[in-house]
Amino acid sequence: MSPRKLVAGNWKMNGLTASAAFVLELAELQPDPVCDVLICPPFTLVARFAEGPFDIGGQDCHWKPSGPYTGDIAAEMLADAGAVAVIVGHSERRTDHAETDAEVALKAEAAWRAGLLAIVCIGESEAERAAGQTLDRIAEQLAGSIPDAGPDGATAKRLAVAYEPIWAIGTGKTPTLAEIAEVHAHIRAILARRFGPEVAEGVRLLYGGSVKPGNAAEIFAVANVDGALVGGASLAAEDFAAIIAAAG
Ligand code: PEP
Repeated sequence: MSPRKLVAGNWKMNGLTASAAFVLELAELQPDPVCDVLICPPFTLVARFAEGPFDIGGQDCHWKPSGPYTGDIAAEMLADAGAVAVIVGHSERRTDHAETDAEVALKAEAAWRAGLLAIVCIGESEAERAAGQTLDRIAEQLAGSIPDAGPDGATAKRLAVAYEPIWAIGTGKTPTLAEIAEVHAHIRAILARRFGPEVAEGVRLLYGGSVKPGNAAEIFAVANVDGALVGGASLAAEDFAAIIAAAG
């Protein structure tokens, strides 16, 4: 049986305390969502939003539980603030902060250690897609960015993989539905080979990259798409609510 879908909003570096009004508006539009809903605001809003009606996640974490890492946030701190999840390996982190697959795997492991859902992001560049290297790149990132099972078999229970083609993020461009289906089937097969089919079936595979109210339903209907990671459209309550509704 397919897992319940997850729609996660990645606010990136957007949001002030006044954005609490967004949460209230979303709760009015979506009092009883058909899927799991997660909002990943900036760190400054995690504790405040965690008191609200939706699950809250971080956008990144350090892999150490504490120490001399100025400006970083530990997975344990996110959990302490009320978060239930954390995004790791977003392409903006990989590009802007030179994060490697090995670091992303350490961060996912830290998320599990803290009891969080790790949403591990992977995706090819435009040049890699043009060169026909997408599936190889995905396999390489999956192998390097996902740790072996954590405590209490954390892999299945607390892992989601977000397929986010870099060229689709914030551009309005999306792969074809067939291309999404091909990559998601590839991810599922790789997870099944590594962790066994039962574990692989329980891992939610999210698509991310220019998901909007107008394309969400057709993307959710693609085989092996168990939800979405939404950037820009998660900043407008009506758009995000429409995407959540499309997951039904
Ligand atoms: C993202 O950055 O995770 C993302 C999917 O962004 P957007 O929806 O704006 O393309």
